[in-house]
Formats: sequence, C-alpha cells, structure tokens
Amino acid sequence: MEDILVRKGLITNHNRQYKSDILISGGKIKNIGKELIPDDKNIRIIDASGHIVLPGGVDPHVHMSLPTGNGRSSDDFESGSIAALSGGTTTLIDFVTPEKGESLHSALAKRKNEAGNSLCDYSLHMSVTSIGPETEKEIFEMVKNEGITSFKLYMAYKGSIGMNDPEILKAMEMIKKAGGISMIHCENGDIEDFLREKMVSSGNTGIRNYPESRPPEMEIDAINRAILFSGITRCPLYIVHLTTEQGIDSVLKAKKKGISVFAETCPHYLTLDDSVYGKGKKAAKYLMSPPLRKVHDISRLWDGLNDGTLEVISTDHCPFNSKGENYSGPDDFSAIPKGVGGVDHRMSLIYSKGVVEKKISIHRFVNLVSTRPAKIFGLYPQKGAIMKGSDADLVIWDPNRKSKITAESQHQNCDSSVYENFKITGAPSKVIAGGKIVFEDGNFDLTRAKGNYIYRKR
Ligand SMILES: [Zn+2]
Repeated sequence: MEDILVRKGLITNHNRQYKSDILISGGKIKNIGKELIPDDKNIRIIDASGHIVLPGGVDPHVHMSLPTGNGRSSDDFESGSIAALSGGTTTLIDFVTPEKGESLHSALAKRKNEAGNSLCDYSLHMSVTSIGPETEKEIFEMVKNEGITSFKLYMAYKGSIGMNDPEILKAMEMIKKAGGISMIHCENGDIEDFLREKMVSSGNTGIRNYPESRPPEMEIDAINRAILFSGITRCPLYIVHLTTEQGIDSVLKAKKKGISVFAETCPHYLTLDDSVYGKGKKAAKYLMSPPLRKVHDISRLWDGLNDGTLEVISTDHCPFNSKGENYSGPDDFSAIPKGVGGVDHRMSLIYSKGVVEKKISIHRFVNLVSTRPAKIFGLYPQKGAIMKGSDADLVIWDPNRKSKITAESQHQNCDSSVYENFKITGAPSKVIAGGKIVFEDGNFDLTRAKGNYIYRKR
C-alpha cells in the first residue's frame, strides 16, 4: 500500500484546528507534525494548502437495499458506498432487520452477505422486532461477539417490525444488561394506523394530505414515552430522525434530569418544509417518515444542533426510483414507498447551510457528521478523528468549491433528488479511505476502494 503525505492542510477536528502535515502508512495515520520528512522517496505527496482536512464522515443511519412492500430501496451497498465516498463519508452504519421471530444471528448472516460489496467501511445496527426465548441471549452475543452495540426498536409499524410498549420495555432492559444502546423510531404506531386507515377509507390519500397522516403529536408522544422508558430501564436512548420543536424540548428536559438520551436529525428536515407536499403528484419524491415539518421546526432544529441538544446528523438514506419530475404513479401517499436519498450530499449540505451560513461552527460540523456518531456508536477513535493511530479516513475539503445538486450528476442510484438545484459551497476535493485515495477531483478509483466490516465497542 502506497504511503501518503498530506502537506500543509488545516487539520480540523471537533475541538481544534491547526496547520500540519499528516503521514499515512498501512491504512493508518502514522504521524502528524510540521514539515514531516518521509523516509520513502516514492511516497505520494498531496498539497493541501488552502484546504481543510476533515476526519472522514460517519453516517450512522442508512438503508441500502432495504426490502419494502414496493421493492428494495434503489441503492445497494456498492452504489450507496460510492455515493457516500464521493461526499466525504467514509463509514456507514446500516441495519439488520429480522422478521418477527427470526433469529438475530441468521438475519445478521444474510445482511452481512448483502453488505459485502460495500466500498467503504461499514457496520450494522441490529433491529429487535419481537421478543422470544432466545432474544436476551442473542442481544448479549451481538455485543460480545459481533461488534454490534446498538439496537433499533420501532414504535411505529406494529404490523410488521414494530413492537408494543411492554415489548419495547423488555427489549430496553435486555439491551441495558448487555451494555448496548437503544435506537428508537419515535412515532406512535397506533395513531399512524388509525389515521392512515381513516384517510384511505375516505379517499383522502393525495400526497398533499400526507403530513396530516403523521402529525407532530405522533412523534412528540413517542419521544416522551421513549424517554420515560429510558429513565425506567436506565437503557441509553438514541432518538432517530427527530423533526419537531417539542421533541427537542423533551430531549433537553431529559438531558437536564441526567437521562442518557441522544438525538439525531437529517439534512432534509433542516432544509425543506412541508409546503412541498402542495405540489401534487410531483411531490412523491418528498415522501419520507416522519414527514417534513414547518419553518419554525427547522429553525429550532438548527438551534438544537448549535447548542448540542441534537448531536448527530445522519441521512436516513433510503431512496426509491421513479419519484422524479416525470413521476407518473398514483397521487396516493399510501401506495408510494417512503424514503429519500442524501448520503452523497450530507456533508456539503450541512457545511454550506450550516457553516457557510453561520448557523454552526466548523467544529460543531465535524462533531455532528463524524466525531459524535463515532463516539456514540463505539467507533472512536478509530473513526471520527484525525489522530495518530486512527484509521486514515480523511477528506481534503475545498471550502470554496461551488456546485449545484442535480439528480443527473449525483452518485446515488436514484432518478430524483429532493435537493434538486440546491446551490452549495464546499465539497471534497480528495477523499482518502483506509489509507488510499479513492476519490479525486470528481473521479473515482474503484480499484482502490474496499470496505471492511467494523466491529464496534460498547
Ligand atoms: Zn431509517
């Protein structure tokens, strides 16, 4: 493996920024210092002056090749990881989703098989979708033997992968005992079923009505219950895709009480509001759950990111094809798969809308897209930091590069983008993953990219 010397970049971690050289060897950061002199004359030298050097992004919430009633999400691990790398994200955490009653081990084996063609490093969260006689033992074995320390529980989707409150409490108790963390999809599933059935039976299923089928109260109620359960079981709680102003209030209150609660939001909730659903059929591409919210929610989410109440920005990357401008399907939210893409634009969007527009600092940005997710999910300091001994996952970031997002030019495998025509400032000029330059000035070197399954710590 070729050694690399990154010269004169502005190294930017979550807490510090300084100009220095970085020596990369054997896939690791071997040394950091001023004016490093390489022993090997054949070393590849990258001049990073005028650039920021960031730790590779960690996106802890993606769904590649997710099976749904309407087919799989359009990115598999290969195309999705290419998209991730092109945007500076070098580690992905996806999910294993066993069917109710299925063994966690056998579901994991199947999912690892699907994830094997990932071109960037990846790990998996385990979903617990039912409680059986083996569940406690299996959760324990996931943590101890498989490097899986986080467990997803769904308060919604009770008919398929969701669980009721007594089951969620039991699962949290088991996760706590095993030393893991729970991740909860916080939407009240009973209200969802009730409203959807009511709207379907009255023929009220136009895309413009979608937000009405999943009102903010559905999330707020579920967040409050999840926090209550976390307080009772003492199981650490990570709230996925938080979208509402009142949700942030609840997290803040819980943190003040000393409850171990973390929360993430996603780029689409920070940049788009629910007025897009008024576009009729063309709004099909904006269907995701929870739905987009109001402008006041967006500004509160940014405040929450700035003050640390929200600690992670993930994408919940889960695109589906045929939802673009020429969408010709039904104007019926109940018939269209929910999910949007974003894994390639997460870092640029948040840098541009957050750092450039002065809503968050550059250090907060690094924390949100890399360091905090690495710490919360047991990857730090292997990932999430530019430190001696860490994996050589680095982004040579051009803070001034201007670009426009279009479905046509994106790397994810999807025929639409919810960010179509968004103008952004800041993008990777080079991406180094596992000590190899895999993306350079818009071009991939796929022969160099190779993802590994990463075992995580508690
Ligand atoms: Zn998700």
